[in-house]
Formats: sequence, structure tokens, C-alpha cells
Amino acid sequence: MKARIALLLMWLTATTLHAAGPVHVVLWFDTEDYVEPAADDAALRLATDLTALGVRATFKVVGEKARVLEQRGRWGVVRALALHEIGYHSNFHSIPPAPALYLRDLGYVEGAAEFERREHAGMLDLERIFGVRPSCYGQPGSSWGPQSNTALRRMGIPVYLDEGTQVGLDNQPFWYGGLLYIFNMGRYSMRAPLDGAATMASTYERFDRAAAELAARGGGVISIYYHPTEFVTTEFWDAVNFAKGADRERADWRRPHRRTEADSERCYGILRAYVEHMKKVPGVRFSTAREMLQLYGGPSPKSLNRARIAQHLSARQTFLLTQQESLSAADMLLGLLGMDPQVVDGPAARGVSTLQSDSVPRAAFERAKADTISFIRSNQRLPAEVWLGSEKLSIGDFAATLAAYDGTSAIASVRRANLEFEKYFSTDPQGSFSWPIHPEGFSAPQLLELGRLQGWTLKPARLR
Ligand SMILES: [Zn+2]
Repeated sequence: MKARIALLLMWLTATTLHAAGPVHVVLWFDTEDYVEPAADDAALRLATDLTALGVRATFKVVGEKARVLEQRGRWGVVRALALHEIGYHSNFHSIPPAPALYLRDLGYVEGAAEFERREHAGMLDLERIFGVRPSCYGQPGSSWGPQSNTALRRMGIPVYLDEGTQVGLDNQPFWYGGLLYIFNMGRYSMRAPLDGAATMASTYERFDRAAAELAARGGGVISIYYHPTEFVTTEFWDAVNFAKGADRERADWRRPHRRTEADSERCYGILRAYVEHMKKVPGVRFSTAREMLQLYGGPSPKSLNRARIAQHLSARQTFLLTQQESLSAADMLLGLLGMDPQVVDGPAARGVSTLQSDSVPRAAFERAKADTISFIRSNQRLPAEVWLGSEKLSIGDFAATLAAYDGTSAIASVRRANLEFEKYFSTDPQGSFSWPIHPEGFSAPQLLELGRLQGWTLKPARLR
């Protein structure tokens, strides 16, 4: 009997181990302080410490920071960072206007063009100075806008790596706007605090618990971020210069208050010890943004089950997880239209149905389908509404109607949209954009609305 129980236990342990998935720690540093030169040394020190520990992190560098490193001749810093992965963290970070401020009153298409106009040059500077294309982008503070997704794709940046609350899926990575978003990681975003009363033991315990949870679900991601400047200052470089949208000339910039050298050493020690602890946890590995992209594959599905997606999309417009695929509402709509899988944007505006009748004759519906395909091909974007003669259906109503139509009956019965994907977006236009650098009381309901419209492209990312 005892032997049997022992065997059973061995089998249970073996199967549990087999089922446990890898836990990827994405460790990233927003390398942004171009005011305090000691922050250059902090970046160098962190990069060197991590290299010595055999860990590759992702350093998201601000364009102006890269140019300042070049001007100061800090090539040792550049080389040390380049041994890790280089991401992009906007051209000027906190010099107004910040991205959410300049994107707020622009539509989707013109916002994407404006983001590219303002931010592309900084990315090119990073390429010139570091010799690599940044793998990822993340906004300064909470200064997010959905229009950046289209611009980033055009700029060749495939991953969005940051924290924020505007959109999120189960505190794990997701696809949105054709980018792999490692964002809004909630309980799977955890730092070892550099200041305050929290003990290392409690931080380790939280990490171990999160890692065990993720391993048990087949694997996942823990996102951890710092700023090199935090290790050498006690206040943020931008809060002392650009608070509440202040516009201050370069000659008037103030340097932030410094930590003592001993205090900085204590901070480096906290991160080093935390990394050493994480490295010892079974199944945990450190991965960069680009490595995560490889592990999650691409945004487009490989196969579609037409009957399954028709059934799903006729009832609710939101993503669908099948055995093999994660499908966004846009993936499914394209599939039902007979188009090849491809990255498209959601509509640029909220369309309104004006169609009086509750059905559409087959021939008219086929013409509407052809017109929709043509629009998507021309714009790489879903139309806000689909014309039926001189009346129209919103894209949501059209998708629901298309999904429910058998394709052979004389009429297609009109179905109303149920845009379930919208529940994954924030409804707090002030709280979601709260940041000491934004003008006081800054609120951006327009960006949340545009973000929601892009929910057509939202779906969970799946480890391959
Ligand atoms: Zn930042």
C-alpha cells in the first residue's frame, strides 16, 4: 500500500512538473533622465551588474537621452546598454506636449501621422547611436494614445512594453493594434521597492506566489520595471522641471535631489538580490521584449473555422479562443469576408446604423460586402459603417448580420452589435491619464473612445 502511494505521489509530482509552464520575467528600465548626468552612471551600473548576473534586460531609451549620451561622449554607457535589448521611450518624454496631450484632439488617422512626425526622429537617433532598431515602445508616464499603434507598426516596432490601465487583458500579454502588448500586468507587475518599509522577504514571497500561479496555468509573464535615475535621485528629474505641463527653457532646468553614494549602493543591492532570488526559482527565466515576441508568435491567425466564428460573432463581437488560435473580432470579420489574415486597425469613428428595414436583400448585401472588402484593402482599417444604398449599418451591426447570414437566403436579417470587447477598456478618462507631468486635471475620454473602437483587434496572446 505504502509503495503504491509513493508511486502515485511520484506520478503526481512528475505530471505536475510536466504541466508547469515557463515563467518569463521581462525586466525593463525606462532610461529617460537627460537632466542629471549621474543617471548615465546609474544606467551603466545596472547594465553591467545584470550582464555579470547573466541576465538580459530591456532598456527603453528616450531619444533625447540617447543624444545626450552621445554629446557627453558616454560611449561606455551606450556599449553597456547595447549588450541588453534597446527599446524606445519617446523622443522627449516630458517636454510638453506629451503624447496623450497632442493626440487627444486628433482622430485616429491624423493622430497616427502626428505621432510618427513627432516620434520617428528619436527612434532613428536610437538606431544611429545604438546600432539597432528598438524592439519595443512604451509611453512616458501614463501618456498613452491608441493612434501610436499604427505609427509604431509603420516605424517597424512590434512590441508595446509599459504599464498603464487604459486597456488590459487578465494581467497578461495581449495583441492590440497588431502589436504585442505587455501592459496592465496588475498582480504580475512587481518591483522590489527601493524605499519604504516592505521587506525583501515579503517581496520574494509575492514573486514566488505569482510565479507558481503562472507556472500552474502553463506559463506566463511577470513584468518588472525601474528607472536608472531612481537609483541615484530621490525625486524625478521631470517632476522638478515639467510638472503640470510646465514649459521650461533648457537653461532653467533644475537637477533632481541626489541620493548619497551609500544609499545608491543600497538600491543597487536590492535589485541585485531580487534578480538573484528570481534566478533561483525553478522554471523562471529572463526574457527581453523581442524574445517574448518570438515566444508569442505573430498577430495573425493561421487557420479559421468558419462555422465556429460565425456562431461566435453573430452573438458577440469580442475575441475567441479556440484550441489552436486566438482570434480577434477583426480576424473573424476578415475571415467571414473571405479575406486573408492580416493586421488591420479598428474603425476610426463610431458609426451609426440608419437602415430602417430589419432585413437586406441578398444582392444588396453582397454589394455591401464587396465594398467593405475594398475599404479594408485600401485603408488597412475597418470602416466605421457600411453603405446599403443611401442607408448604412455600423460596422458592428454589419458584422453581426454577416455572421448570422447563411449566404444563400434571399434576405439577410439585420442583427444588432454586442461589442463585448469594450469591457476591457478603462472608463476613467482622468484616472487613466493621471501623471504629474500632464496639465492639472487632464482628462482624455476621446483617447479611451478611440481605444475602445480599436477593441476589434484585441485578443489574448498565447505562448507557442
Ligand atoms: Zn518614463
